[in-house]
Amino acid sequence: MREQTTFFGDATGARALPMVGEQKDIRYYASVPRSVLNSPTATGMGFWSINPYVGCAFGCAYCYARYAHRYAAERLNSAAAESGDTALPVDELPPWLAFERRIMVKREAPLLLRRALARPAVHSALQHESVVIGTATDPYQPAERRFRITRGILEVLTTQHGLSVTIITKSPLVTRDIDLLVRLRERANRVSVHVSLITVDRELARRLEPRAPTPESRLRAIARLRAHDIEVGVNCMPVLPGITDAADQIEALVGRIAESRASYVGACALRLQSAARARYLPFIESEFPTLADRYRRAYARSHQVSEQYRAALRERFVSVCERHGVKFGRYYEDDGDAADVVESPEFPSQLALPL
Ligand code: SF4
Repeated sequence: MREQTTFFGDATGARALPMVGEQKDIRYYASVPRSVLNSPTATGMGFWSINPYVGCAFGCAYCYARYAHRYAAERLNSAAAESGDTALPVDELPPWLAFERRIMVKREAPLLLRRALARPAVHSALQHESVVIGTATDPYQPAERRFRITRGILEVLTTQHGLSVTIITKSPLVTRDIDLLVRLRERANRVSVHVSLITVDRELARRLEPRAPTPESRLRAIARLRAHDIEVGVNCMPVLPGITDAADQIEALVGRIAESRASYVGACALRLQSAARARYLPFIESEFPTLADRYRRAYARSHQVSEQYRAALRERFVSVCERHGVKFGRYYEDDGDAADVVESPEFPSQLALPL
């Protein structure tokens, strides 16, 4: 693998970061974070989180994690400016595309995690709060085949007892690590994999998630994990109003999930915070132009679609899941979906809701 020093200045501005690989139009840069285990206090989420990469090559149009790359890139840009470096590679691309094509790899992540776990306060906190891997990146994106950072992290976690570990992914590559997931569980840790799947329509998935694994391959991965008795939740998230929310689409989706023997299903409607909005709304204008006005209205005053829509969506999932004999919402029912909502005026969805 080629390694060359290039423009990505690190957060201190003290040195440039090496480019550690290329894969077609994607470049990988070694990132040197101070820590890799994010505390609930640092993120405002109710759990610890680990993100082995910054950026994600799967390139989902609705991705909410683009903010993380922009934030990292801005820090690097400003550090580079101070140290006299110029022409950061992210500048070649619009930020939404840099997120997908300029991936930062946290090669030291396993080592940093081992160090963090050696601290008694961290070790003790982790006995009470979950660790989620992949809250702002996909830990099994193509980079993982090459860099194996997620696998290194799991190897460190298998030295622990009494943890609750969740992995969020769209990739069947997670099945490569079944050996470690089983070992984790054998050591009295709770393990669950959350596979994200918003449609079983392959062509539609390709438009929405251009480089992500096919729905079929994700369903096969779920079945494989379940065959090893690993808990698998399916995140039908986000449900895209007017695009993936038709009754027959939800029926087909939940039916296939039930066949794969997933442990439970979660669903919630699209939220559009600023970085996601900046990519998603232009995407809708070009790919689904007839929906553009309705999206603009529905998300005009809030990052959430109306409460009425969300309630109907939930009702629909509850009843379809019941019919197919799969649990709904085990982890998601108290996720704050109904909280802090400023009402958005409307979304005339295919759920046939009142406007
Ligand atoms: S897989 Fe997840 S992190 Fe990656 S682009 Fe899609 S939504 Fe974003």
